[in-house]
Amino acid sequence: MNGMIADIRAQFPALDQQVNGKPLVYLDNGATTQKPQCVIDALVHYYQQDNSNVHRGAHTLSDRATGYFENARKTVQTFLNARKAEEIVWTRGTTEAINLVAATWGADNISAGDVILVTAMEHHANIVPWQMLCEKTGATLKAIPVNDQGELDMEAYARMLTPEVKLVACVHVSNALGTINPVADIIRMAHDNGAITLIDGAQSVAHWDIDVQALEADFFAFSGHKLFAPTGIGVLYGREELLNAMPPYQTGGEMIEHVSFEKTTFNKLPYKFEAGTPHIAGAIGLAAAIDFLNGLDRPALAKHEDAIMARVSELCAQNDDLRVIGNASHKASVFSFLLQGAHPADVGTLLDQQGIAVRTGHHCAMPIMDQYAIPGTIRASFTFYNTLEEVDALFKGLEKAKMFLL
Ligand SMILES: *Cc1c(COP(=O)(O)O)cnc(C)c1O
Repeated sequence: MNGMIADIRAQFPALDQQVNGKPLVYLDNGATTQKPQCVIDALVHYYQQDNSNVHRGAHTLSDRATGYFENARKTVQTFLNARKAEEIVWTRGTTEAINLVAATWGADNISAGDVILVTAMEHHANIVPWQMLCEKTGATLKAIPVNDQGELDMEAYARMLTPEVKLVACVHVSNALGTINPVADIIRMAHDNGAITLIDGAQSVAHWDIDVQALEADFFAFSGHKLFAPTGIGVLYGREELLNAMPPYQTGGEMIEHVSFEKTTFNKLPYKFEAGTPHIAGAIGLAAAIDFLNGLDRPALAKHEDAIMARVSELCAQNDDLRVIGNASHKASVFSFLLQGAHPADVGTLLDQQGIAVRTGHHCAMPIMDQYAIPGTIRASFTFYNTLEEVDALFKGLEKAKMFLL
């Protein structure tokens, strides 16, 4: 094993265990990533030493917790290259971030006759909130088609950009196919048409650096838990001028400036969108994960992930029983496939018996499964701590599964 990868793996305690008597091969990073010790330590340290509510600064612990919490926001700001920390809104994750935009920006800006564009490869989190908004407002939801390789049809997209399109909501990297979408082009074309954009970055942040200014993104959402951080914390980036114009989301404490029974005025950004006590430890854990990533040679890790996918392709080519779902020319380290004649769930169970963790099913992306006329796939999703040996273990595991199933 590559020394750099061995050193990194050593920092992820959960990777070092046996499952069903075999060394764990964790290939479900698209669902959630494991956490490095420094993130776990940051959580423990917070609860052991600094635990307190934020922004109520009457005492030292509260000041300390508030300092860590707001520094975490700055860490995310730098990570995304946002202009201001005020543009970083804490959410529970990608799902809540998208729901926030649908409920606030959507309520103010979408009306009957408008069109919202998504792609045919969206996660349900980037379909259903828009569908509900369309039902409420009389707007129409349309999906940009995807070809058999799993690539967006950009010519169709150009044709679909009519004056009625007010929003284009698009996944950066498909969790079901691995497709990397050309989001810079998608955003530029939407803007030329006067539309606002939301990028679902749940699967992209873990693989390379994001620059929301270079992308000219209006909204960008991601989840901490797919970025080596805790569950229950995520981020909505929004351009300041858009966030300022939006009504609040949930209401209650923290998000207000002044409350009387006659009238309430709302707090400034980003607190206007952060009603109630936030996930303080989660934000601190997310900042620790980003600090950890910043300490790694990310370009070298991206090359390592490319080598993993090259090995997957090489082994696939030797195997006639596999049908790969998603063959986009730009693809992240997601390997979605079927083993001819076998149900994905059965394959998943047989792999688990060998200590190999994959995901099986529709991956919360039923529309694209329908397009391929399949109920689901087997998905191995890799990240930088995976090894070439683990790719080999997956294919050996599939050979064993075949003996049972085919
Ligand atoms: C995981 C995922 C989501 C939802 O993220 P949550 O953390 O469950 O809110 C949305 N979109 C994509 C592409 C995902 O992979």
